[in-house]
Amino acid sequence: MSKFTVKELPYTNNALAPAMSAETLEFHHDKHYAGYVNKLNELVEGTEFENRPLKEIILHAQGGIFNNAAQAWNHEFFFDQFSATPKAAPEGALAEALLHAFGSVEEFQKKFAAAAVGQFGSGWAWLCKNKDGQLVIDTESNAGNPMTKGLEPILCFDVWEHAYYIDFRNRRPDAMASWWKILDWATIEERF
Ligand code: MN
Repeated sequence: MSKFTVKELPYTNNALAPAMSAETLEFHHDKHYAGYVNKLNELVEGTEFENRPLKEIILHAQGGIFNNAAQAWNHEFFFDQFSATPKAAPEGALAEALLHAFGSVEEFQKKFAAAAVGQFGSGWAWLCKNKDGQLVIDTESNAGNPMTKGLEPILCFDVWEHAYYIDFRNRRPDAMASWWKILDWATIEERF
């Protein structure tokens, strides 16, 4: 039984260029992300995780099942937050929370990009809500997901080389700088 499905992109492959090219999305979505989903379907067959939602698998599984479930969830979350017609800045409660936690939206973006650029090797940078409703930046290596620390993710940057190498080669800071331009703050406000 093939339980988990590859979620379609909410935009066309060439909608986000040049920040994210059609070729990058073709590889990142159609090969890497789809690969995690397919592998997960293989691995969960006949296990206690076969009919459980991704989030529960992330909270309870280890090893290959955790890695592929987390990568499936992380990529859905990542791709969903971009748009060809993004809302350029946060407003309302989210803007206030960013101000409270980081001093300003610009300061948040600086700190978040520094965390993403500074993550050694493959992994993810996250903006999360903690149990007190405050915003915190988290970084995770490999497939890591902050839900395992009791944090609620609201934004993430994928810092695996496969996410940016076609467009930016080794220049991870340039990729991070470009991604802000296609980040849809309306989506982040909804998640918050
Ligand atoms: Mn990726």
